[in-house]
Amino acid sequence: MSVLEQFRLDGRVALVTGGTKGLGRSMATGFVEAGAQVVVVSRHANEAVAVAEELAVHGGTRCAGYAADVTDPAQVEGLVARVLAEFGQVDVLVNNAGINLRGPIEALDVESFDAVQAVNVRGPWLMCRALASHFKARRYGRVINIGSMLSVVGMADRTPYATSKGALLQMTRVLALEWAPYGITVNAMLPGPFATEMNLPILDNPEIYQSFVARIPLGRWGELEEIQGLALFLASDASSFVTGAALTVDGGYTVW
Ligand code: NDP
Repeated sequence: MSVLEQFRLDGRVALVTGGTKGLGRSMATGFVEAGAQVVVVSRHANEAVAVAEELAVHGGTRCAGYAADVTDPAQVEGLVARVLAEFGQVDVLVNNAGINLRGPIEALDVESFDAVQAVNVRGPWLMCRALASHFKARRYGRVINIGSMLSVVGMADRTPYATSKGALLQMTRVLALEWAPYGITVNAMLPGPFATEMNLPILDNPEIYQSFVARIPLGRWGELEEIQGLALFLASDASSFVTGAALTVDGGYTVW
């Protein structure tokens, strides 16, 4: 197989949580361009269906959009059963759905802390658990957990989010070991700042926005397309000997 062929996803089915917006939608777009069938998931059925229709037209592959809250065990089990019934298989799981609630620790309530852990940690854990027997039986799976630069460095006013993304990195490492005997790879992507809805509080404040830019060696935020290359690498056979890795796509933010 030529090196470019290793990056193709023809015949593969990719499931992207939070695939209706931002980074998830961009990764889903990259996957259909590489030939994959893609299922996008969010809590809003209408948005998921609309995005899936656009992806199908864009890539010419079969796509679907389903509503599920990744924090809810029953909804996650139902989602996986539905995808397997409709598509027959899942080859790539991208645990991308995530939220961020910011503030000094004394200004945050317990509910905010728990909400962030529920989406960013319990969600990926539930998704992996629901797909474990399927991946193991097929002796194939590519799991991509979307961490953050805050998986590995700190930032003030981010206790819920950085805690959750650090935990997700450890989940990645443990599952990589657990599933390595089955040929399933589990990796984490650690993005730096991208202009998505999640970052509106920063984008709306020029001073804070500039303070981020000043810390990024490449001197700018990421463009949404710039998440696609690493995601495709980890989703495809090009990364067959890569597991348990934490790969940054952050313009160099975490170098210093
Ligand atoms: P967005 O806010 O743009 O999109 C988040 C997506 O997740 C939406 O599709 C949303 O859909 C979905 N979602 C949220 N909660 C749930 C839930 N409980 N169940 C199912 N789906 C849910 O986020 P980004 O694209 O910015 O972020 C994507 C991932 O990348 C996140 O994990 C984030 O932490 C990470 N990341 C982002 C960075 C950035 O700069 N943007 C930097 C580093 C990491 P809906 O609300 O309709 O359910």
